[in-house]
Amino acid sequence: MSAHEVTLIPGDGIGPECVEATVRILEATGVDIAWDEHHAGERVFAAGVASGVPQDTIDSINRTRVVLKGPLGTPVGYGEKSANVTLRKLFETYGNIRPVRELPGVTTPYSGRGVDLVVVRENVEDLYAGIEHMQTPDVAQCLKLISAKGCEKIIRLAFEYAKAEGRRSVACATKSNIMKLTEGELKRTFERIAPEYPDIESWHVIIDNCAHQLVKKPEQFDVIVTTNMNGDIISDLTSALVGGLGFAPSANLGTDVAIFEAVHGSAPKYAGRNVINPTAVLLSGVMMLKYLGEFEAAEDVEHAVLVTLAEGTLLGDVVGYDKGAATSEFTDNVIANLGQRIDGWTVRRGRPIAVPQVSRSLTFRPAATKDVVGGDIFLDSPLPAAEVGPQLEALSEGTPLRLKMISNRGTKVYPDGNANIDQVGHHRCRFVSRTGTALAFADVLALAQQINTRHEVCHIERLLRIDGADGFTKAQGED
Ligand code: NAP
Repeated sequence: MSAHEVTLIPGDGIGPECVEATVRILEATGVDIAWDEHHAGERVFAAGVASGVPQDTIDSINRTRVVLKGPLGTPVGYGEKSANVTLRKLFETYGNIRPVRELPGVTTPYSGRGVDLVVVRENVEDLYAGIEHMQTPDVAQCLKLISAKGCEKIIRLAFEYAKAEGRRSVACATKSNIMKLTEGELKRTFERIAPEYPDIESWHVIIDNCAHQLVKKPEQFDVIVTTNMNGDIISDLTSALVGGLGFAPSANLGTDVAIFEAVHGSAPKYAGRNVINPTAVLLSGVMMLKYLGEFEAAEDVEHAVLVTLAEGTLLGDVVGYDKGAATSEFTDNVIANLGQRIDGWTVRRGRPIAVPQVSRSLTFRPAATKDVVGGDIFLDSPLPAAEVGPQLEALSEGTPLRLKMISNRGTKVYPDGNANIDQVGHHRCRFVSRTGTALAFADVLALAQQINTRHEVCHIERLLRIDGADGFTKAQGED
């Protein structure tokens, strides 16, 4: 029996070449891995499996709990969802870890500055949950759902990863100045958990400044933890700091399953040409070796990559495809360099990572008090707010709710609203308790029903006070 069993998914486009090179190199280290090869992606979509991930692949992952995969293409025209996203969600790999480091021989505007940082990105929540609706024929909505449990898991994972890799600081990057409830939840969770890791410096940075600082002074960062979409964007930026997507590995970590893959996609135009850079998949394999506890082999492979690059075996993405080495030549050279080291270049000594164990049972936090204090009733309407407002005031007369204001795309337009707003036919009408006392949700629903006799109600939100704090934010211009 082998020491480790790993599900191997070759993937699409350049995937099989990158994975083959990686398997050859990992096998050359002598680590005993039994590969259980299965498929996902384009060929599976083409065979009529709508998710792009067939049952035999799922069964294999459920057994091995560790996956090395090539990129999967998302074909246009069939298959609604990306097979990559399906895999991440199916196995709740909630943490996406994307390290980048300066590499010898790969010259960039940042060479010599010692860039060595990692983006820890929440991987399953946020806007990428993809919960989208058309509220009106021309106003679309995407729900940004952020849970307290999701924030706690990713923050703890970031600190545990920092600990395992011997890193000195964790920065939390959010847009909490604007999205106080959603992005703010990550910031508050970070501030609550950071004191449990007194040896690691912690600080908060607004995500747009984080992007600015990454371009200006990337060496100030060590670990950056952030929400899903922020992390997706800044991790592509960070990969460019060290030479591009050909050098950017990643791990998707969950409580039970870990999936290792490059950040890049299937780059179909290079498929089968023996020219692509397999380093990103190979370094994902290095992350996998560390996860499996094979720290010595992981260090050997990383050193061999550094030696190979320093010797000048560079691929087309760095030196141009007319001059680059072949993928197979690069692979042979890395194997030949196993056991070699170069002066001045170190690799991080890995230690086991304690992936936070989180209860699988449904999380439900009962509040001490949870009062309905109003409702936002959204209208799909051809009328401007100045006409809608008086009609709603008349319709709500004699009910427990009064119209407080109407906003259009987040800015107050009634009463006395900003007259410069370019209104669209979608009004958020904020009703609050007339007496200031708690209401029943049924009061909001009854009012919505009454309004719907004259206008088209397209969406309703409760306004809650939870444990004495407002569970909603104000519109721009609302007092
Ligand atoms: P991509 O496959 O990452 O390719 C974009 C560009 O990045 C390539 O054209 C190439 O740049 C460069 N590149 C990527 N990997 C490289 C490598 N190993 N060596 C050298 N250069 C590399 O992105 P895409 O074209 O947007 O996506 C193609 C397909 O991949 C889509 O179906 C997408 O859905 C899928 N995808 C999958 C994953 C995943 O499996 N995790 C991730 C992203 C995208 P130049 O053209 O400048 O040479």
